[in-house]
Amino acid sequence: MATRALVNAKVLVEEDFRDDLAVLLDDAGEIAALLPATQAHTQAGEVHDLGGGWLLPGFIDAQVNGGGGVLFNNDTSVAAIAAIGRAHRRFGTTGFLPTLISDDAGVMARAVAATRAAIAAGVPGVLGVHLEGPYLAPARKGTHDATRFRVPDAAETAMATSLDNGVTLITLAPEQVPLDTIRAMVARGAIVVAGHTAGSYEEIRAGLDAGLRGFTHLFNAMSPLQGREPGAVGAALEDRASWCGVIVDGVHVHPASLRVALAAKPRGKLFLVTDAMPMVGAEDPSFALYGEVITAVDGVVRNAAGALAGSALDMATAVRNCVELIGLPLQEAARMASTYPAEFLGLGDRLGRIAPGCRADLVLLDDALQVRSTWIAGAREDVA
Ligand code: ZN
Repeated sequence: MATRALVNAKVLVEEDFRDDLAVLLDDAGEIAALLPATQAHTQAGEVHDLGGGWLLPGFIDAQVNGGGGVLFNNDTSVAAIAAIGRAHRRFGTTGFLPTLISDDAGVMARAVAATRAAIAAGVPGVLGVHLEGPYLAPARKGTHDATRFRVPDAAETAMATSLDNGVTLITLAPEQVPLDTIRAMVARGAIVVAGHTAGSYEEIRAGLDAGLRGFTHLFNAMSPLQGREPGAVGAALEDRASWCGVIVDGVHVHPASLRVALAAKPRGKLFLVTDAMPMVGAEDPSFALYGEVITAVDGVVRNAAGALAGSALDMATAVRNCVELIGLPLQEAARMASTYPAEFLGLGDRLGRIAPGCRADLVLLDDALQVRSTWIAGAREDVA
């Protein structure tokens, strides 16, 4: 049944690295078995030597606005999703949600339709769609256009949750929408999280009780933790069940704040996102957002008003930053990029681990933690 065996790598199996295993892949693009490396030749038709590198579960990025010169808001097409996925794959991303920031209902409907078509067409890596807004707080708008903010009616709620072949993630400010709207979105299968929120601790808490599963880019664009007002950050850090995405680019969040969050949350509840803009995997550091040209300077992306406008971050760099800036062991940084986002998205039984029965989505890093190869459903691509 197994067609290929991957050998001679330090393989992340659950919590630890193993250097004595062969990873067997089958014809269906799944991991068939983990066996002692000595059995590889008798169990597989081909044996691939990975040169002693680090073999990790492929990275899963729940927040990708763009890449390869493409911004999803500007091009809601299957080709655009494929181009974004290609750009990020070079940095180890094997699963992602193309992310639409606040826009008109027509653009949102096209984004959902393009995502559906991309999944149906087998575009590598696309797992669903992330609609970041437009149900957000003007006081915490970041680079979003607050003139587009609104409360969704029943028809718009139905449209926003209409993807039927992938994950729908919706970021909203829970104090800006009726709690029944959150409940309706969750009932229709969406994962709803708080972000770009000015909500009080009590308002966020009410949102969590209505079904919020987590928080978008913890610390950024949300009410901070203070002594008498815990805010969204305090509600996020206190809550045991919810997940928090974090942008570990050395700019969005101070390493000390990230260490506080890691100490506060149960292990497995913090995961890495890029919030990437089109310059990732592209030559051009500029792109247009809402008609304004935005240029990354020294890797920092700001709009004319000075607000951070997403990032120039890729997942492999985020993993390295977790090791170098926060001091995490590589195995935990890798899990924050794969196992934990898979569990957050409800895909943990199929993705995010190197285990029999999981899809063969993998990334191979060299000793400098640079990406050498990726596999999506068993299909390998080497980074030149
Ligand atoms: Zn945002």
